[in-house]
Amino acid sequence: MRWPEGFVCPRCGGRAAWLIRRGLWLCGGCRHQASVTAGTIFQDSHLPLPTWFRAMWQVTSPKNGASALGLQRVLGLGSYKTAWAMLHKLRRAMGRAGRDGLTGVVEVDETYWGGPEEGVVGRQTQDKALIAIAAQEDGKGIGRVRLRRIPDASRQSLHGFIGQSVEPGNTVRTDGWDAYLGLPGYTHDRQVQRHQPEGEHLLPRVQRVVSLLKRWLRGTHQGAIGHEYLDYYLDEFTFRFNRRKSTSRGKLFFRLAQQAVQIDPVPFGALIDHNL
Ligand SMILES: [Zn+2]
Repeated sequence: MRWPEGFVCPRCGGRAAWLIRRGLWLCGGCRHQASVTAGTIFQDSHLPLPTWFRAMWQVTSPKNGASALGLQRVLGLGSYKTAWAMLHKLRRAMGRAGRDGLTGVVEVDETYWGGPEEGVVGRQTQDKALIAIAAQEDGKGIGRVRLRRIPDASRQSLHGFIGQSVEPGNTVRTDGWDAYLGLPGYTHDRQVQRHQPEGEHLLPRVQRVVSLLKRWLRGTHQGAIGHEYLDYYLDEFTFRFNRRKSTSRGKLFFRLAQQAVQIDPVPFGALIDHNL
């Protein structure tokens, strides 16, 4: 997976190389020693790759994925911090998967996360995070989704989110909120609030995604997520949701592994560097 077409030297681009020992190649062109994990999220990890693979298998579990505490237990890791860092690195890999925009009819809405009703204690009780959700219509059901934290519900933020989440030329269905008006490049299906029959919703798909998201955040992660990390949890949720119909956990694992070798290393310092 690291070199799908065969070895490529990261320094000189040469393709001739000798295997010195497992995972370590010597470039025939420039004599550079290239590790198979260099330039991937596994770079500089003191954990053996099989431990990473076991973590990835946990993350792709069909139920809810893994929490750091759960992962620490299952893998028998000495430190919570190690499990936490592994999960965050894997979330970065998940965020890279399937970046193509949604098509067809797409419902778009926002929701809040955090605040007293989520049971979060401490300084986070005061500020809530705003999350934009786009959910593709698939008959009566939901196709793929996109989720992202946005700074506010302004026109600029919402139009920006739609531009990144939905392919131009498709239909965006929203509620009557003014900031959605004037969407360039899309057909806008504006559902203006009126009396709804009991149990019905103007945007039922995003509504369903919101409730699944919140259940997952509260359940698997006990809701204890700082806003600075929320984006990565949204990436994990999106990765899992968009592959929820996959019949094979192995395929999910394979996809995650593909992404993991394609993204740049994330040093631990960068994981926690969020001005905490
Ligand atoms: Zn080389």
